[in-house]
Amino acid sequence: MQTTNVLELKKQYEQTHFELLKLLNEQASLKQQLKDLPESERSQSEKLLLAELKAQNESGVLGESTLDAIFKAVMQAKTKEEEAASKRPMLVSRAYKNEDTVIDLKGEKVGTGKASFVFGPCSVESYDQVAAVAESLKDKGLKLLRGGAFKPRTSPYDFQGLGVEGLEILKRAADEYDLAVISEIVSPQDIEKALDFVDVIQIGARNAQNFELLKEAGRTNKPILLKRALSGTIAEFIAAAEYIHSEGNGQIILCERGIRTYETATRNTLDISAVPILKQETHLPVMVDVTHSTGRKDIMLPCAKAALAVGADGVMAEVHPNPAVALSDAGQQMDIPTFDKFYNELAAFQGKI
Ligand code: PEP
Ligand code: MN
Repeated sequence: MQTTNVLELKKQYEQTHFELLKLLNEQASLKQQLKDLPESERSQSEKLLLAELKAQNESGVLGESTLDAIFKAVMQAKTKEEEAASKRPMLVSRAYKNEDTVIDLKGEKVGTGKASFVFGPCSVESYDQVAAVAESLKDKGLKLLRGGAFKPRTSPYDFQGLGVEGLEILKRAADEYDLAVISEIVSPQDIEKALDFVDVIQIGARNAQNFELLKEAGRTNKPILLKRALSGTIAEFIAAAEYIHSEGNGQIILCERGIRTYETATRNTLDISAVPILKQETHLPVMVDVTHSTGRKDIMLPCAKAALAVGADGVMAEVHPNPAVALSDAGQQMDIPTFDKFYNELAAFQGKI
């Protein structure tokens, strides 16, 4: 090959890159104009396009898998704007907002550094049962009452909760004792119903990655208490909170409730290190549920103290006037005298740290 010929070919070869760049930019701008097209429609037409490109390549020199790889990359190409959006810090992150989010629940401010306490039965069973715990909260000057009306049980034959009737009971007791109510909702279609009864919607561990539920919760202006998933990583926990925030609701309390590990001495393994990590990584209040993490009344107090010592904004625990006959979690709920002692010791500890 003559030297001049090689130089010319090299020039032409290089020039094709600049032509490709121009075409790719034109293509990205056309795609941007179609950005409102539903995902399914777009991927369907891209599939057809790829098949046609392959058919037309019969006389071309490009190998089929190379063609595949190039056009897949082209179809997934991001604009500068899209790249910037994917790098933007999450709304729940400290990088996005440095000040702590404080959530006001009927005057109880969660997230100020002073711990808040959430107590109540695992399941709502009757008005008298809930009122007995509510009275005990009121006597202590506490504000936050929990109780499950929709129960996500492992077995379909176990007590599933009283549903809306349970929410009505909670509201009645809360109004009577001037408390705020926290209760779990398990289906997106029940969220709206719950708004009239609860002050905080709880999303439980089993639903912590139910993205439709998270999005629906994000469309309300009710505070949300989000539990960590059964085997959820901290990154997944934060991303679940982002699902809520991304829909407009930034009033989120994160609740560490233990994760499933190989350890059987406790119901779950309380990941105490999650508390300072979540406080560092997000601006949201962080609570610790010492009942569902430990599942053991004998170690709930030291674990609750540990939670406060590492900077938790609150502690949750289950209390039932007669745990022996409770319809769920009978083995791990505190009776009222045990609760009195637990709270007195925890409050005294709080005063010392
Ligand atoms: C609860 O708090 O009632 C509950 C079921 O907890 P978790 O979702 O953490 O298991
Ligand atoms: Mn329970």
